[in-house]
Amino acid sequence: MFFHRKELIVPVEVRKPDPAYAQFLLQQFGGATGELTAGLQYWVQSFHCPKTGIREMLQDIAVEEFNHLEMVGKLIEEHTRGVEKVGPEVEQCPVFALRGRGPHLIDDAGVNWTAAYINEGGDVVRDLRADIAAEAGARETYEILLERATDPGTKKVLHYLLTREIAHTKMFMKALESVGKLTEPAFGNVKPDETVNIYYHFSTNGAAQRGPWNQEPEFKYVADPVKAIEHELAGAGKH
Ligand code: MN
Ligand code: MN
Repeated sequence: MFFHRKELIVPVEVRKPDPAYAQFLLQQFGGATGELTAGLQYWVQSFHCPKTGIREMLQDIAVEEFNHLEMVGKLIEEHTRGVEKVGPEVEQCPVFALRGRGPHLIDDAGVNWTAAYINEGGDVVRDLRADIAAEAGARETYEILLERATDPGTKKVLHYLLTREIAHTKMFMKALESVGKLTEPAFGNVKPDETVNIYYHFSTNGAAQRGPWNQEPEFKYVADPVKAIEHELAGAGKH
């Protein structure tokens, strides 16, 4: 059940409207890393989450994202005050001159929002990992928007939104940890085969870069995969 309270979760105040900046903000309304994507992703995932606690967390965070969507919408509305007038600022962002003040379901480049932005699949581990990635995208976008913001009210709101995305990341990581999958990559019922710990060094020039992602004892480092694969194929041919 939904109700709409006619009040923002955090007030939005814009002193100096900037329609060109509003165009950047569209990314967080109708863009891939935006609040609509996040809210709908967590909401849809919650319906197939078998764990009651995690399901409820997904729903709570989804509703919070819809609150963020409302705040970003209000920011865009405020930044496009007076967009009906003809003027140089408005000519820089024809989308608002043509479609009117306020947000639209497009990103900063005018691309329509699409459900293809949403990553959900039914497995709680896969879904939570997708959610951590979604929060990383949102955080990155908010940081870029903050760097370009000049209006103090806008900066305050964006800093709040960026902070909440970090809070969500922490919650999703804790939820993954609660099912023992924060540091354990395998899930599902099918066991991996014997190649699961092999690192293939597929780069041919320059010094080989080594790190925990390709080192013993976790990984067997195959320095020359061409030779190794040819050897494997020759071996397979004998059977
Ligand atoms: Mn958000
Ligand atoms: Mn979030």
